[in-house]
Amino acid sequence: MTRSDTTTHPYLGTGAKGHLIGGRVCPAQDGRLFDTCNPATGEVIAQLARGTEADVDAAVRTARKAFEGPWRSWTPYQRQALLFRVHELVDQHYDELALLETLDMGAPLSRTRAFRGFILQTILHYATQTANLAGETLPNSLPGAITTLNLRTPAGVIGGIIPWNGPLISQWWILGGVLASGCTVVLKPAEDASLSVLRVAELLHEAGLPEGVVNVVTGMGAEAGAALARHPDVDRVAFTGSTATGRKIIEASTVNIKRLQLELGGKSPDIVFADADLDVAVPGAAMAVFSNSGQVCYAGSRLFVERSIHDEFVARLTAFSKTLRVGNGLDPKVQLGPLISARQLDRVMGYIDGAAAEGAALAGGGQRLDGDLAKGYFVAPTIFANVHNEMTIAREEIFGPVISVIPFNDADEALRLANATDYGLGGAVWTRSLGQAMKMVHGVRSGTLWVNCYGVIDPAVGFGGTRSSGYGVKGGLHHLEAYMDTKSVYIKP
Ligand code: ADP
Repeated sequence: MTRSDTTTHPYLGTGAKGHLIGGRVCPAQDGRLFDTCNPATGEVIAQLARGTEADVDAAVRTARKAFEGPWRSWTPYQRQALLFRVHELVDQHYDELALLETLDMGAPLSRTRAFRGFILQTILHYATQTANLAGETLPNSLPGAITTLNLRTPAGVIGGIIPWNGPLISQWWILGGVLASGCTVVLKPAEDASLSVLRVAELLHEAGLPEGVVNVVTGMGAEAGAALARHPDVDRVAFTGSTATGRKIIEASTVNIKRLQLELGGKSPDIVFADADLDVAVPGAAMAVFSNSGQVCYAGSRLFVERSIHDEFVARLTAFSKTLRVGNGLDPKVQLGPLISARQLDRVMGYIDGAAAEGAALAGGGQRLDGDLAKGYFVAPTIFANVHNEMTIAREEIFGPVISVIPFNDADEALRLANATDYGLGGAVWTRSLGQAMKMVHGVRSGTLWVNCYGVIDPAVGFGGTRSSGYGVKGGLHHLEAYMDTKSVYIKP
């Protein structure tokens, strides 16, 4: 049996898949299951264990035991060697993982395969971090020969709550932190896309990970997710998802004052000045939203275009969007897949219908795709022109392939409009003027700001948000602080 075959993969089909707790596959304690669908066809592709509080509790106990067990004494170089073995295994099995992800959440193979380099680099990034978890010695003015230092120790049991829009990537932001620091984790993948998380956990065990260090409980957000977020023996939660769910996780964290890392929603500004190289800015601004069919937290969904080029830009954007191939992502030529679910399709179509009612001018797309694609959840790449920043489509996160083009008159107005949002995740500026670019770099309130490009991310550079887009940074120099405790130590010999 080949695991890259869509019909014979052991994760697909009618046999139920369980949680992974303590290295063993286990059913939900109450035996319940839920269906997971391929959003390109609407077909059920697998049945998974529907986790409850009892399952989460069993997984957290297991993770605690593992944290206090032999894993504790693994040296940094042992953890590093493990990550190198995992790197090898993920590399060997990457096509299979990309296929599972495509079937599970709809992103085309052209996208899931393209992340190979990024995911492998992320694993290497954390492998390097294992041996760099330095504490500090500090000067003091105390009487006597007292030595003072800050000792860094792994924080304990992490709850990792993963979204559906890119679990192959999202899980590594958490697994990297956990394995580099020596924590243990209970992962709760999104109910719409759990398969790659389960498979990677299997590969980790194949690489020699001790049982109980990484556990996966599948199930619904309001059940398994909420149980994990409020569990009193979970020390920290790392969460990527909507701002609404982020608020619930903050509330749940008060149970034991959990420290959180939250990457939440966005409504990122993408600012195009008239002097930009439009041959680069047009496809760049289009893919800043249409990538992953708009299901990206940092999508540049408010596209501010200098008024003098607004009409030309909209025309070129619309022409570009018509060249994009939308369809079932198993076809390697397809560039855009479906939305994740019927619920998300309704939501996105609701925004599109509402925009027309609010007076936005539809310049392209705006409809569900029918014919062969009618069974899936496909929406044409959609562009609204002459949008006002106050319209619903310019204020709320749509999480679909919808661009709102908003004209502006000068840099001050662009900045004022860009910052007129509660969110602060991504953003970009397209210009040939360094002065204009720097004004946006310093002025836009966001966790990341791209100049003449969009959405490029490197694991060595931090990624996170401000304000309603959350707090804490993934990757970069400071990520592992989210997985470490600091103890101040005074030593009198
Ligand atoms: P969406 O609404 O687009 O599905 P969410 O932010 O709700 O996005 O989902 C992100 C992750 O959060 C998923 O794994 C989901 O199951 C989980 N989740 C949803 N609701 C809760 C909750 N109340 N507590 C904890 N996790 C949740």
